[in-house]
Amino acid sequence: MKWVDLRSDTVTQPTPAMRQAGLSAAVGDDVMGDDPSVNALQDRVAGELGFQAALYVPSGTQSNLLALMAHCERGDEYLVGMDAHTYKYEGGGAAVLGSIQPQPIVQAEDGSLPLDLLEAAVKPLGDPHFARTRLLALENTWHGRPLPLDYLAQAGAFARERGLAFHLDGARLYNAAVACGVPASQIAGHFDSVSVCLSKGLGAPVGSVLAGSRGLVDKARRWRKVLGGGWRQAGMMAAMAHHALDHHVARLAEDHRRAATLADALRSLGLAVDGAFTNILFVTVPDGRQAGLAKALEARGIRISAGRGARIRLVTHLDVDDAGLERVIEGFREFFA
Ligand SMILES: *Cc1c(COP(=O)(O)O)cnc(C)c1O
Repeated sequence: MKWVDLRSDTVTQPTPAMRQAGLSAAVGDDVMGDDPSVNALQDRVAGELGFQAALYVPSGTQSNLLALMAHCERGDEYLVGMDAHTYKYEGGGAAVLGSIQPQPIVQAEDGSLPLDLLEAAVKPLGDPHFARTRLLALENTWHGRPLPLDYLAQAGAFARERGLAFHLDGARLYNAAVACGVPASQIAGHFDSVSVCLSKGLGAPVGSVLAGSRGLVDKARRWRKVLGGGWRQAGMMAAMAHHALDHHVARLAEDHRRAATLADALRSLGLAVDGAFTNILFVTVPDGRQAGLAKALEARGIRISAGRGARIRLVTHLDVDDAGLERVIEGFREFFA
């Protein structure tokens, strides 16, 4: 039986066609700038998102860190959501490795950072008491929810007026674009730099891309080397990522549809459900029943991440089809019958 794994959209297996694209890729030494497949991927993402240049890197964590280190100097500060991935789930890299101080901001429910809170957090210029506020970082999608398009424009204007650089952790940028019905460039265009994960809903095995100006990407490339992330014949993976961009963007709408279907089905069982704006939803399982649910589903070939509280995150992706989804709904129905 094929597993239905709802723990994350990072669990996808490369499709046969994607593997083939990797096998037949032209490669070279990327540290020398010689890998044609890496170069093609970088040029493609830069062009598609409306930037001068882009850099293919091993992970979203490294991509965000490189952006912060390229925008900020030692002793600078960045404004970031209190629960943002960059702040909370990346090992404190900005502070540890970049000597960049985070200024966390309590996020609104929709993932936006309220402008009045941002305003109050910007430090006075030229006063040596303070770190220099240098950058504003947002995350889109936020727990699977696309940031409102008009908020992006407002936050961008705010950053520009105060001379702040503006970075997007767009790990799931393409989910946001598909859900909003706009080209990814329309979201990316508000920012000075954007990080995109290829290994999440797009289904590539490894990697993220950081896009920005030529100067910014050159700085990021140097920091990548310093962090040990210069790589050689990475073209096989880059070609698989290229394949993902060719074939797996429009289909994200299917993941979103399945998440919405699952949300409706779980609600009809009397469970509290939120999210399902894109491919992520949260179901609240009554106290003490999470472990039992996980076990019952596992017996049906379904994996969920239980064990971190009553609210369980469920993620749809490339390897969850309609038959798999039906099995999940049946599994919940039987357990809660
Ligand atoms: C996954 C993720 C990252 C980091 O990507 P990795 O490749 O796992 O390092 C960054 N931001 C968000 C919002 C993510 O979901």
